Amino acid sequence: MTDIKSNLEKIKAQLPDHVKLVAVSKTKPNEDIQAAYETGQRIFGENKAQEMQGKAEELPKDIEWHMIGHLQRNKVKYIAPFVSLIHSIDSWRLLKEVNKRAKNEDRVIDCLLQIHIAKEESKFGLDEDELADILYSEEFENLENIRIVGLMGMATLTENEEQIRREFKSLKDLFDKLKKDKFALEDSFKELSMGMSSDFKIAIEEGSTMVRIGSDIFGARNYG
Ligand SMILES: *Cc1c(COP(=O)(O)O)cnc(C)c1O
Repeated sequence: MTDIKSNLEKIKAQLPDHVKLVAVSKTKPNEDIQAAYETGQRIFGENKAQEMQGKAEELPKDIEWHMIGHLQRNKVKYIAPFVSLIHSIDSWRLLKEVNKRAKNEDRVIDCLLQIHIAKEESKFGLDEDELADILYSEEFENLENIRIVGLMGMATLTENEEQIRREFKSLKDLFDKLKKDKFALEDSFKELSMGMSSDFKIAIEEGSTMVRIGSDIFGARNYG
């Protein structure tokens, strides 16, 4: 059996104070989330909107739910009332939909822009041109119900640590650049979500402020 409590303790001991832990609970049952909750964990990450919605209904209300997976526009409505951070904004149309649904709920939803840093074609995320198109458009300034609080990225799935490090470094460089010009006046732009079970130590060395860890806490997943 997976010992969620001791896994969490082991991981937390490796995280500097400024790094937040998102416990990635996708595909895992409520009992596992509850076990982590009882050790004090409050941030959980899911990658499917309806699964997150169902869990949020049944579990304690002070959990902060983070959407970490590719989000379809027609699913935003399921999470708009309660989601606390969306890591995976990967298109202008998705950002506009989140803004619209947040407005309906009379709230401002915090978002990260997901940047494509991996060599793999299959990973989602914006390239630098798409990012610039979003951030420097006039319309962007009119989105009053979203707040961009940072960037997210996933490194290539590889054994090559130097490649992983290089990809994280490139995301940190981009983050620093945006922090200096586009978001210079916005203290809330401060999160860099990078690092999963296999590469979070490298991610932290390269400037991550938020790691998304699933299997090292809850054990291997059968699917998802
Ligand atoms: C599943 C997932 C994770 C967690 O992966 P582990 O290898 O289980 O730690 C992190 N980020 C995203 C975007 C994921 O989909």
